Amino acid sequence: MGKGIIKYIKNILYCLIQLIYSGDDKCVICNEYGDENEALCVQCRKKLRHSGDSFYLCHNDEEYPIWSVFYYSKTVKELIIRLKYKSDFICGEILASHMLELVKKNGLQFDLLAYVPMTKRALRNRGYNQSEFLANYISKSLNIPVICNLIKILDTKDQIGLGEEERWNNMEKCFAIKESKLIRNKNILLVDDVITTGATTFHCAHCLKKSGVGNVYILTIAKSKV
Ligand SMILES: [Zn+2]
Repeated sequence: MGKGIIKYIKNILYCLIQLIYSGDDKCVICNEYGDENEALCVQCRKKLRHSGDSFYLCHNDEEYPIWSVFYYSKTVKELIIRLKYKSDFICGEILASHMLELVKKNGLQFDLLAYVPMTKRALRNRGYNQSEFLANYISKSLNIPVICNLIKILDTKDQIGLGEEERWNNMEKCFAIKESKLIRNKNILLVDDVITTGATTFHCAHCLKKSGVGNVYILTIAKSKV
């Protein structure tokens, strides 16, 4: 299926969800009645554990600053699962709006947005990339373009059975840059959903950096303990 068709279907799905949702002010997580104009009720909002502090993702003398909006609590996990596996773009908007808030609050400055890519096969199966959705939301609001030249050429699933060191090193082969001229000396904000070991995110950042990018900053919804 072509990228255009996927985008078309995605937009129709999104519009349908918006239509269904607009007449219903129930909380998207607990299904209890919530506040008007709020997709999450007060109780569920209270369960979101904000992180917000930056830290560094380090490996082999390379380091990238990273901001995570939340800790990986039950409510955040549910929102991410719904965005990632159930095409629930209302949950996606809730998460993206918090990411945008963090960008503004911390005054993050960058020229382009990028996102952690999926292989063509994985994208065909899911129909959309949740990190691309989040990047697009931030892009629209800040009027900063999303660059799509970071690609995933190999599946990382084939890493089962490998030790942590091998897993890290093996992942370098999974990502590539299609056209590096567009990103040379630019500062890029790389968007990902959850950071666990950081291996995927690190190698995406590394791939951008070695293609001549100025600074790479990383923004994720949540950080999870390994
Ligand atoms: Zn609720």
